Amino acid sequence: MTRDAGPTAPAAVLFDMDGTLVDSEKLWTIALDDYAAHRGGALSDATRESMVGSNMTRSMKLLLADVGIPPTEAEVDAAAEWVAGRMAQLFAQGLPWRPGAPEALREARALGVPVALVTSTIRSLTEMALDTLGRDTFDVTVCGDEVDGRNKPDPEPYLKAARLLGVDPAACVAVEDSPTGVASAEAAGCLVVAVPCEVPLAPGPNRVLHESLHEVDFAALGELFARAA
Ligand SMILES: [Mg+2]
Repeated sequence: MTRDAGPTAPAAVLFDMDGTLVDSEKLWTIALDDYAAHRGGALSDATRESMVGSNMTRSMKLLLADVGIPPTEAEVDAAAEWVAGRMAQLFAQGLPWRPGAPEALREARALGVPVALVTSTIRSLTEMALDTLGRDTFDVTVCGDEVDGRNKPDPEPYLKAARLLGVDPAACVAVEDSPTGVASAEAAGCLVVAVPCEVPLAPGPNRVLHESLHEVDFAALGELFARAA
């Protein structure tokens, strides 16, 4: 059933992917650990945590440094290729949803406003994830290798999604799970619905924290703007 958006609905709903819609951060941990072992090292918990919500290039630099290999451009490229290949294997085995994510996407679509996917993950892996998420779910998808290196926490991924949709980012709601992603969305001017996954999130003036997507009332998202005004 489609609801009228009404004057208080957001201009668009912009969803992060990893850790927000799909429980893929755990798969990233497997792939990153496997690469570290492949190079004879180990990835520390602190370094892994700092990568959550980050893009491939930055993550590979951190990973190589942790393993004790100078992160030259060639090493970063080789590591990215290896990890992307491992992730493709893991994605192909099936991508688990985050709790409430299928319902959240349905409710966001029922608002009658555009819905976008704004992910730090590269296009080739995102295309595999769209087999689970549904290609028709999103009006626009922005991937980590499509923002000229200006990845989250830079605002560019969210700004690009808003540009492609022709909407004001300050009138959009972003749904995020990580400190990096929340910082990006807030820098773009979006209001943020934050559901932490792997890393805790602190409260903030332009974000609403929830423990699960099940708790989010998508039909009432417009009220966030009234509250923030
Ligand atoms: Mg995320």
